[in-house]
Amino acid sequence: MLFVLQFTSQLFLVCPPSRANSALLLTIVIRYKPAILAPTNFRPVKSFDLACSKPGHFVLTLAAGLLWVGIASAATLPSSGNSTTNTTREYDYVIVGGGLTGLVVANRLSEDPKVSVLVLEYGIIDRSNTTRVPYYGTSLNIGAMFNITSGPEPAMQNRSYAVRAGSIAGGGSSVNGMTLDRASAGDYDSWELLGNPGWGWDGLLPYFKKSTDFDPPPPEIVEKYNYTYDESWYGEDASPLKSTIPHWQAPDTYTFFDGLDELEIPYIEEHAAGTAIGQFWTPASIHPTKLERSSSLTSYYDPVSARPNLVLLTQHQVKTLTFNKGTTTVTGVRALNRPKNETINFTAKREVILAAGSIHTPQILQLSGIGPASILEAAGVDVRLDFPAVGSNFQDHPVAYLNWNLTNTEPQPNELATNATFNAEALQLYLTNRTGPYTKAQSNSVAFLSLEMILGSADAASVMVEELKSQEHRDYLPYIYSADDEVNAGFEAQREIIAEQLIASDVAVLEFPFSGLGSVPNALQKPLSRGTVYLNATHPEAEPVLKYVFARREIMMTLI
Ligand SMILES: Cc1cc2nc3c(=O)[nH]c(=O)nc-3n(C[C@H](O)[C@H](O)[C@H](O)COP(=O)(O)OP(=O)(O)OC[C@H]3O[C@@H](n4cnc5c(N)ncnc54)[C@H](O)[C@@H]3O)c2cc1C
Repeated sequence: MLFVLQFTSQLFLVCPPSRANSALLLTIVIRYKPAILAPTNFRPVKSFDLACSKPGHFVLTLAAGLLWVGIASAATLPSSGNSTTNTTREYDYVIVGGGLTGLVVANRLSEDPKVSVLVLEYGIIDRSNTTRVPYYGTSLNIGAMFNITSGPEPAMQNRSYAVRAGSIAGGGSSVNGMTLDRASAGDYDSWELLGNPGWGWDGLLPYFKKSTDFDPPPPEIVEKYNYTYDESWYGEDASPLKSTIPHWQAPDTYTFFDGLDELEIPYIEEHAAGTAIGQFWTPASIHPTKLERSSSLTSYYDPVSARPNLVLLTQHQVKTLTFNKGTTTVTGVRALNRPKNETINFTAKREVILAAGSIHTPQILQLSGIGPASILEAAGVDVRLDFPAVGSNFQDHPVAYLNWNLTNTEPQPNELATNATFNAEALQLYLTNRTGPYTKAQSNSVAFLSLEMILGSADAASVMVEELKSQEHRDYLPYIYSADDEVNAGFEAQREIIAEQLIASDVAVLEFPFSGLGSVPNALQKPLSRGTVYLNATHPEAEPVLKYVFARREIMMTLI
């Protein structure tokens, strides 16, 4: 039996490799957060690279001379999985990828002491400060990510883009921006409407609560920053993923709230109630007392890592599935022990669960002979199952950055990178009291806007949706949507649901996270472009060829 688990990217970071084109104040780029590129670890800092940022400010040199003393040691926690000692080759469940999804599933399956569970993870366990201290979640932790570049995009002047995905235990949850927002009820209901009973808002809410605990900051912080929340929409103390709102906000954050008020965007006291349309505060996946990152590693693996029936093998890259000869019945996986350069077969007595993320799960399937026949044949892979949908429906959220000069208030969020004195004081605050700017990762204040809010009236929204429905999508979607009726039918079903929800205004179309910085991503949440993830025909085991196929002809792109 084979299961494919995939969390869609909520705030997926895709940064253009070239800075040459970022000289426009409003540039359509495909990335999430420019932010402050801090060092990849906490060694003394010589310079900060401010990539993908405002025009003319690409490299900031900061002679901080900051000697990082390190936060509390994690010596009691496993730091390498059990890759060197374990010799067992047969398990009930084999989970491919110890990322966000994989470690959650591993925790839940291994609750039953009678079943054995193996997690095979490409990367290492990284417990450095870079993955733990919230402020460093504003930076790209490049060393903990795969090195992938998307193919040239014809509709974007043939530009290529760096694609970000975590390559360490915890996956994206160990490198992401820690913004922990819950979508609107309508967003989840669309999953159910696509034919997945139980995956709507009502079905999922108990699991949101079961997984996520929220504790507010101390009352004086809540009062100081005007935070609002309703804990009843989160779980109890037993819920593994810990969250809170940081102990610091930049003053100009409130300028944005005021601006949204002027535009009559409703203020939502608690967005996690299924009401995430308007402006609101969101928690971060940060432990409320330790004020450190809460990831699938810290929340779901660490507390159960001593279970004898759970094994996490780090630095193991799964290459293919294995099968009963001549059938499509999966028996296990073939993996590479990367340090030893040794290939090992692992057997799954019950199930293999693919949780290697949106890029590598389709690659593993295709290398196993499951995917579009033409793609497999071009790469010299024997076709086991011609399955055109594998590698299609690839989506991300394109972003247009809006940049301003904000000069009226101090401190600004990027002051940590520009002002050594401020940085030193902030660091001291964090080390001594766990408070101040270092407790904050990406933005916790955000506007999620419906089509009606953006266009100003329900009538205008209807006109746009009619136009959207009348577009011949085969004109702008990849070839596979013309070649395969089933793949096309899947897209049409999605478009039908999205169109109805846009009219009903019960989902957000744009995300606008602000944090008092003069640069705000304007992210399209409902793109109707679809991309592909296909094997590289000349080097099938290298990173796959990734195309977003963002198209100007796709009407939703006009919104950003
Ligand atoms: C830079 C960045 C910022 C983000 N910011 C936010 C945010 O602020 N808020 C938010 O909600 N979301 C954010 N996201 C998105 C979120 O982190 C992802 O949606 C989520 O991690 C996806 O979970 P997943 O389990 O599908 O994949 P992942 O978490 O990526 O896990 C996949 C795992 O599989 C492993 N793997 C891959 N190939 C193989 C192989 N062949 N063999 C073995 N193991 C393999 C990887 O190393 C990884 O550990 C961000 C993502 C990134 C990259």
